[in-house]
Order: sequence, then structure tokens, then C-alpha cells
Amino acid sequence: MKSIFALLVVITLNTFLFAQEKSVAITMDDLFSAYNNIDIEKIEVASDSLLTSITKHGVPVTVFVVEKSFSENGDTDRKLLEYNKWINNPLVTVGNHTYSHQNYAKTELSLFEEDILRGETITKELLKKTNKKLKYFRFPYNSTGKDSISRAEIYDFLDHRGYTITPFTIESIDYVYDALYCNFIKSGNTKEADRIIEKYIDFTADLFQYFEDLSKELFGRNINHIFLCHTNRLNSACFEKLITRLKDKGYNFITLDEALKDTMYKSKDYYAGQYGFSWIYRWIENSNERKMLMRKEPYSKDILQQYENLK
Ligand SMILES: [Zn+2]
Repeated sequence: MKSIFALLVVITLNTFLFAQEKSVAITMDDLFSAYNNIDIEKIEVASDSLLTSITKHGVPVTVFVVEKSFSENGDTDRKLLEYNKWINNPLVTVGNHTYSHQNYAKTELSLFEEDILRGETITKELLKKTNKKLKYFRFPYNSTGKDSISRAEIYDFLDHRGYTITPFTIESIDYVYDALYCNFIKSGNTKEADRIIEKYIDFTADLFQYFEDLSKELFGRNINHIFLCHTNRLNSACFEKLITRLKDKGYNFITLDEALKDTMYKSKDYYAGQYGFSWIYRWIENSNERKMLMRKEPYSKDILQQYENLK
């Protein structure tokens, strides 16, 4: 009896520790610019569907907004009504992603700063009616500048404006899968569109496994992850499936605030350059080791080939 009790304690403890060590914050970029070339009715349907899935599963998400997309191609009022739903959803945190999604490595500092300030106009106004604050910033393309000097300059600017820079650890080229998915939907081929969804979810699960293993190898434990994807039609269609798969892998969903409490996010970022790769690689001092590990990352050859053929 005693040994059964001891065994139960071990199992319970393991379950607790297991649940504790697998946490991820979901971040979604490019609201509403990721809904490429579709009319306002379709944007509303896709955006509502994503919000419904978020609410149903109680998953906290941080969305990064591109304010230019509100006025681009018209229907501004309807887009703002839709944006208000995101602002007012208690599970949603909104962040600044600049006004026009420029690549900082290819933009002058003063122009980029202007784009950051312009990118907070509508959001700050709408947030006044809530108890939320605009705190997070994410670089378009995760490009923190062309070198260490330009990075230091913009980090200083963002710090003075009270922004927290948002890193990520895992992404699974959802924009590539989205382009293929939208193409099949457009041509009425729902069977192939569904196949793309399955492949995207499998690939995402593989990348979670890869970064989980890499995290254990490099830091001795699985850190709090930050997943980056986009508010596109693909994720609007399969968010529930994606969340279910990650739950099956043992993940629980935490806010960006909670994820960033992991001490790894205070680590030195050794990479200064234009490329937008995972922060896990940026915490590696030796650039040869970094490159060697990046080459080991799973990639989806057939999907990338199909994507190339689309262009
Ligand atoms: Zn973006």
C-alpha cells in the first residue's frame, strides 16, 4: 500500500513538473495586413472565427497590429469595428508592429522611429476605453537593424517610449502555408486546402519538438516558449486544431507577460544583424555553433517548392 502511495506521489509530481515545464505564449503578427487581398466580408469572417477559437479554448494571445492596414484598400470603419473586438477581448493583448511594416535594416533611424509612433495612434485611442496599456513592440521581419549600433539606437528609443521588445523562439513559416492554403481556397480545391492545414500542423509540432530538444541541450531545460504566427486565413481556419495538437504535446498556454518572466529572456543577445531568426539562436555566443544548429532545423522542402512555384 505504502509503495502504491509513493508511486502515486511520483506520478502526480511528474505530471505537475511536466505541465510546469511546457509553456508557450502565442503571438500573432500583422493584424489586419495578413489577410491578403480579400474583401472586407471575408476579413470579418476570418477574424471572427479566430476570436471565437481563442475564446473557446481560453488561450491568451498577443497580436501585433499594422495600423496602415486599416486605411489601405478602404473599409476603414468596418475594420476598426473588427479591431475593437480584438481590443475588448480579455484574452487579447495588442502590440505595436509599426505603421507600415518596414524593415528596420533597410530604413533610416528617424523614419523608422516615425513609423513606430504613427503605428500607435489608433491603438492608443481605442485602449483608453479599456484597462489595457500599449506595452509590446515587435520588429517587422524580426529585423533589429543592420548592425549593433543601429540596434542599440532603436532599443534606446523603444525603452524611452516604455516599450518591451517582443522576441520569439518558435515559428513555422505559416505565411508560406497560408499562401498555398489561400490559393487552393481561391480555386475551390478544399481537399488540397485541408491537406495544407494538416501539413502545417504536423510541421509546427515538429518544430516545437526541435526547439524543445534544443532548449534542453543548450540550457538544460525547456524554457517558456514564444510562438510566432500570423492573423491570416490559415490560422483562422485551423487555430483550434493547432491548439489541440500543442495541448496533446503537453503545452499549456500562458500570456506573453508570464513567458517573459523566464530568466532566459534576460540573456545576452549575441546577434546583431538583419535576419529574423529565433532568439534561441541569438543566445548562442559562438556564431559557427549557431549556424551549425540552424542548418539542423527541420524544413519543409516540398512546401517551399510549391510556394516558389506560386510566384
Ligand atoms: Zn509582420
